[in-house]
Amino acid sequence: MRKKNVVLENVPVTAYAAEGKALARVDGKVVFIEGGVVPGDVVDVRLGKNKKDWAEGKAIKIRSLSPQRVDPFCQHFGLCGGCKWQMLPYELQLQYKQQQVTDHLQRIGHLALPEMPPILGAAKTRHYRNKLEFTFSNKAYLTNEEIAEAGEQWPKRNALGFHIPRLFDKVLDIRTCHLQEEPANLIKNTIRSWAEAHQLPFYDIRQQEGWLRNLVLRICTTGEVMVNLVIHHELKAEREALLNHLLATVPGITTLLYTINPKKNDSIFDLEPKVFFGKGYVEEKLEDFTFKIGPKSFFQTNTYQGEALYRVTRDFAGLTGKETVYDLYCGTGSIGIFVSRQAGKVIGIELIPEAIADAKENAAANNVENAAFFAGDVIDICDDAFFAEHGAPDVIITDPPRAGMHEKLTAKLLEVAAPRVVYVSCNPATQARDLALLAEKYTVEKVQAVDMFPHTHHIENVVLLQRKY
Ligand code: SAH
Repeated sequence: MRKKNVVLENVPVTAYAAEGKALARVDGKVVFIEGGVVPGDVVDVRLGKNKKDWAEGKAIKIRSLSPQRVDPFCQHFGLCGGCKWQMLPYELQLQYKQQQVTDHLQRIGHLALPEMPPILGAAKTRHYRNKLEFTFSNKAYLTNEEIAEAGEQWPKRNALGFHIPRLFDKVLDIRTCHLQEEPANLIKNTIRSWAEAHQLPFYDIRQQEGWLRNLVLRICTTGEVMVNLVIHHELKAEREALLNHLLATVPGITTLLYTINPKKNDSIFDLEPKVFFGKGYVEEKLEDFTFKIGPKSFFQTNTYQGEALYRVTRDFAGLTGKETVYDLYCGTGSIGIFVSRQAGKVIGIELIPEAIADAKENAAANNVENAAFFAGDVIDICDDAFFAEHGAPDVIITDPPRAGMHEKLTAKLLEVAAPRVVYVSCNPATQARDLALLAEKYTVEKVQAVDMFPHTHHIENVVLLQRKY
């Protein structure tokens, strides 16, 4: 069984593993299985990696379906990289996520855990994203059936949708996406129809030619709608006709921008979006705090559950109005601002200078006067002089990216030894690794997972650490 290209037949899938993979045991060996299978399925697996104690492979045939499966609600299920867990009832998704958090904290972190309340599920399991980005491509991803149907002639087709995972130039044409409220689909489909009717060229990323590149939509809980159309170069007459048609057809667009991107990559970070209609930004609310979001700003993608996450964070911080709170990896300052009324003062630190500029603006707009924000790498900024200048932390809130915290930062946190640390994480595996290091001085007091992304395997988890002595 250590050979490569082995196909295991009739394998009963028994559990979920991390990163959306499932798990089976064959002759005492753990087998990780990719390909959208769920516990209860019986499948054939082609092994990629095959080690002594474990193997990894892809399900190539499903022999029988798990009785726990439900019908997916989306016509694009199976090809789209989006809502890959639709075949699981939501309650079961939540159970698997909760289990995942416990497993990581115990197996990677080797931590003694308090009693854990169940993961906070979302009331809204569809249409929960405030932001989506679609890509135009002249290379639609076609299924084998579609190619066979077309016969000799390779069907050339445009697409406006999502990249197919791992295929850099192929885009799946998306007609109805369930991730965002209307008018998201109406906007997308209106632009596609107009572009097709007027033969406006969809971008070809390999050849680096074409005109229409990306479409970024923000549908806010405040009702505001922002559209940013990214094109390769200026074609004034075509652009104005398209954007005017969009405004005339779709009611409710509050801000319409376009961005010219002549670069090889799709990032608009270093480009200047231009306002065609409206004020050029939208506003989101978390409780009664308002956040201004421009075409390049970062904001939690699920406003509803973002608010839930921040409430847990504020609650864990246990503030009384006097504390000095550090908000590490603060992005646009939203956590710091959210806790500011209960804190003495808030110090936010974030790598991206534009995000810090937004944080300052957000604080001012919400009349938050006890917060200061600093741009730079947390490792460079958090030195002794900085803590001496801004005061010893009573509470440190840290919300690192998926890779977790740098070892230098965990070392610094141990040295600084704030009485409480609230660790917000979008990757419980790296969180568990970091908590194991912090366990030298801290105990895990509370754990609360929050489901920000229904129908995906992503998990957000908040942990409260209390200094031991
Ligand atoms: N707390 C914010 C954002 C969290 S996302 C919120 O709730 O909205 C993580 C953030 O960490 C990103 O904004 C990223 O730019 C920032 N970041 C990544 N590496 C960093 C580093 N080494 N130093 C400071 N900030 C960093």
